[in-house]
Amino acid sequence: MADKVVGVLGGGQLGRMLAAAASLLNIKLVILDVGENGPAKQVLAPTSPQHSHIDGSFTDPARIRELATKVDVLTVEIEHVDADALAQVDGCDIHPSPNTIKLIQDKLAQKQHLQSRGCPISDFIPVDSTVQSIHAAAKELGLPLMLKSRTLAYDGRGNFVLRELSQTQDALAALGNRPLYAEKWVPFTHEIAVMVVRSTSGEVRAYPVVETVHKENVCHLVFAPLRTRDATLSRRAQTIAEDAVKTFEGAGVFGVEMFLMDDGGLYITKSPHGRTTRATTPSRRAKHLNTRTTSAQFCLFHSGSTALKVPSCAMLNIIGLSSSMAEVNALSAVALTVPGASVHLYGKAECRKGRKMGHITIVAPSDAELRTRLRVLLSALPSSPL
Ligand code: ATP
Repeated sequence: MADKVVGVLGGGQLGRMLAAAASLLNIKLVILDVGENGPAKQVLAPTSPQHSHIDGSFTDPARIRELATKVDVLTVEIEHVDADALAQVDGCDIHPSPNTIKLIQDKLAQKQHLQSRGCPISDFIPVDSTVQSIHAAAKELGLPLMLKSRTLAYDGRGNFVLRELSQTQDALAALGNRPLYAEKWVPFTHEIAVMVVRSTSGEVRAYPVVETVHKENVCHLVFAPLRTRDATLSRRAQTIAEDAVKTFEGAGVFGVEMFLMDDGGLYITKSPHGRTTRATTPSRRAKHLNTRTTSAQFCLFHSGSTALKVPSCAMLNIIGLSSSMAEVNALSAVALTVPGASVHLYGKAECRKGRKMGHITIVAPSDAELRTRLRVLLSALPSSPL
């Protein structure tokens, strides 16, 4: 379908989803990640010696340059790559731009960027990793205070909720020597997210708004479409998300996460890459690939429909409960008995408590039927995220 070869920095679960979408569209991918057999490489054989995957780190400038020699377009499946090395690559298109990747890597810089462009962001301030600085932030923003690592954060692993000042040393110990910032505690009623596709020609289009359900900072469930009595909410959220994505350079699929307040107000919490429910046409991962190929015609075609394919759908993350794969396999087996459910396992070599091991998508002809199908899966879990 496309004559461009796409190089991907990172070969984890999102790379695996890209690889699956790429094979359906007959797009060649070359993956850069450590090891021969990570989640993405498992599902994608090299198409030729020239297109063999690279065993190396996506933070290693030499390996990034080597990848660039094999492909026409470079992209990322994880934001924690060496963005400076990417910026120095010649002879390849890079999407999103290395500037965007660098900005997204630093949650404080990202918030400052979005705020300066007029996007709705709740209060935050930079803090030093000292007791005095954190106490000053708590005085300004109040308690509880959300302390966050500026870099290398995912699944809430760089977050610490400071409920009392006496926890400050614990917070510093937990967040280590990483650069920090503080956010005012947001008493949201719901969390929502919008995926936005941006083509190389700059066209920006939002997917339907989804509701995300987090437990202990980790996303467990996603529902689409958003059900609400507020007739303006979906469009408002999509406009906020599209406006936010317009402030970044380069093509790609961006996820914009938001807090919904009691009065209907919305705050952007962040805009990294995001999740997929595989219920849109074409899939978000396919679209991510297509926006990264350079033919304008091709991109124009594929920034087309973002409509849902089904009336109601959900995504349940399969999160490791222990070092054993037994629970993951048991939940997957239950899912195979549920109509409309599809299991997506990531092929990770080891299971760990709290590790994302896969996800299950469920589609249904109505919300009521979706809940019935989902209930079968939730009852197979030791504790429900709802
Ligand atoms: P992920 O990798 O899942 O996107 P992350 O590590 O980047 O997560 P955040 O998205 O910053 O972490 O926060 C994770 C969750 O913590 C949010 O979805 C929300 O439930 C809660 N949270 C984050 N910031 C705040 C805040 N300022 N006030 C209240 N709750 C918050």
